[in-house]
Amino acid sequence: MNIVLKDVTILHPEQKLNEKTDILIEDGIIKKIGNLTESETKSAEVFSLDKNYCVPGFFDMHVHLREPGREDEETVVTGCNSAAAGGFTGLACMPNTDPAIDSAEIVSSIIQKSKNHLVDVFPIGAVSVARKGESLAPIAELVEAGAVGFSDDGVAVKTAALLRNALEYAGMYNAPIIEHCEEPTLDDGVMNESLTSTQLGLPGIPTVAEDLIVMRDILMAEYTGGRVHIAHISSKNSVELVRQAKAKGIKVTAEVAPHHFTLTDESVKTFDTNYKMNPPLRSKEDVNAMIEGLKDGTIDCIASDHAPHSIEEKEMEFIYAPNGILGLETQLGLAISGLVQKGHLSFEDLVYKLSINPRKILNLPIPKFEVGEIANFTIFNPETIWTVDVSRFKSKSRNSPFNKSLLTGKQTAVINNKLLYIDEKFINLA
Ligand SMILES: [Zn+2]
Ligand SMILES: [Zn+2]
Repeated sequence: MNIVLKDVTILHPEQKLNEKTDILIEDGIIKKIGNLTESETKSAEVFSLDKNYCVPGFFDMHVHLREPGREDEETVVTGCNSAAAGGFTGLACMPNTDPAIDSAEIVSSIIQKSKNHLVDVFPIGAVSVARKGESLAPIAELVEAGAVGFSDDGVAVKTAALLRNALEYAGMYNAPIIEHCEEPTLDDGVMNESLTSTQLGLPGIPTVAEDLIVMRDILMAEYTGGRVHIAHISSKNSVELVRQAKAKGIKVTAEVAPHHFTLTDESVKTFDTNYKMNPPLRSKEDVNAMIEGLKDGTIDCIASDHAPHSIEEKEMEFIYAPNGILGLETQLGLAISGLVQKGHLSFEDLVYKLSINPRKILNLPIPKFEVGEIANFTIFNPETIWTVDVSRFKSKSRNSPFNKSLLTGKQTAVINNKLLYIDEKFINLA
């Protein structure tokens, strides 16, 4: 099947491309980029995409797919559907499944389950066996099976000694250790420690719990020469620590989740458990530091920390409800509304944060806009105004604090692996 993307603005900052043109795609492969004649478009299905951008497919490097173990909340396939609906063509999935992603068999089975999907899935292996923080997971075996990074996400790598081993082994493959930064002796809170937590009478988690592990990991990265990636950064001081470490040439990168540059802990006053996540929502000052970090490059990428939970579990009392919210289907709208529209980031920056940088961190190839390459595109309209409706989400779960929010900017289509996703349908291009 041939398709034509007509009058679309192709934007690929690495290739220095930013122009309005047409793209001809034959069987999922880029056949021509440039203005097309009528005879070239004759046998093709033509999509008029004026006002749309076509960029290298977005990639979310922090997703919880819940398979194996909690298929009632999400599966590899429903998570991939949710990613496509949110404008993503690739994702990395976190290993805190049940059992954890700590063996070659589990890595392979997850890759196998995503095989025929539009969305590429790259598992993150556990740092320690069963994420228990005791013995190192079989790093070489996991890399061999397809793991692209390592994390004990949910908790920080338990000890400095284990982290040192992990950095040294993963370092042999240039794979990052993706750290959930939270000092375990300061983690019994359910929200940010602040005036608000005192007013609400809820136990707080101070930002220093995050900063301590960020500091430890930076020092260990410097000592071992390994790579640390700070997951879901949320504290102002942590951003400053990463900034200084980068200036010193230490191999550290960082991601921020959309809720941490959008919401503050004031939201918890509603006691809505969709405002409960870990790290928790922080202060206005911290939110501003996230935006500054994104602007000056301290924070390399935006990642959702997509964390599906069942309705029954999220309906528990605030103190008992599990942490985490969905992210894949609101991420692009929140980034455009909160960052680009407000003048903090350009569209080029957005492509770096959502497509190019996460792939660089995980050593994955960047989709190219060249004849003969497989089309791996996200097409989005930055002017589409839409209301979030969780009942229409492709995820199996519904836990989003952004339900009914009005956002600007939405994906129009995604293309990858010879599949097109448009108007909520997958179309085979081959
Ligand atoms: Zn985490
Ligand atoms: Zn996570």
